[in-house]
Amino acid sequence: MKCHVCGGEMRAVVTDLPFKLSQKTIVILKALPVMQCKKCTEYLLEDRVMDRVEAMMNKVDQGAELEILRYAA
Ligand SMILES: [Zn+2]
Repeated sequence: MKCHVCGGEMRAVVTDLPFKLSQKTIVILKALPVMQCKKCTEYLLEDRVMDRVEAMMNKVDQGAELEILRYAA
C-alpha cells in the first residue's frame, strides 16, 4: 500500500490517536492499529478498524470533555 500524499510506503503500526467527536468532546484511542506512512505524517484506518472505532464513538458520553478508550482488537 502506498501513501496517497507522498507515495511513500505505508506500514502497520499501533499508536494512540485523538478524535474530535464534537465541539467539546475529544476521544483518545489507545493502542489503535493504523497504516502509517514512513515518509510523512499521513495515516489511514482499515475499514474494519474504522467500523469498530465508530461503534466505540457511539458509546461515548457526549457530555464528557475527554474520554480515553483502549482499542481492543
Ligand atoms: Zn506519505
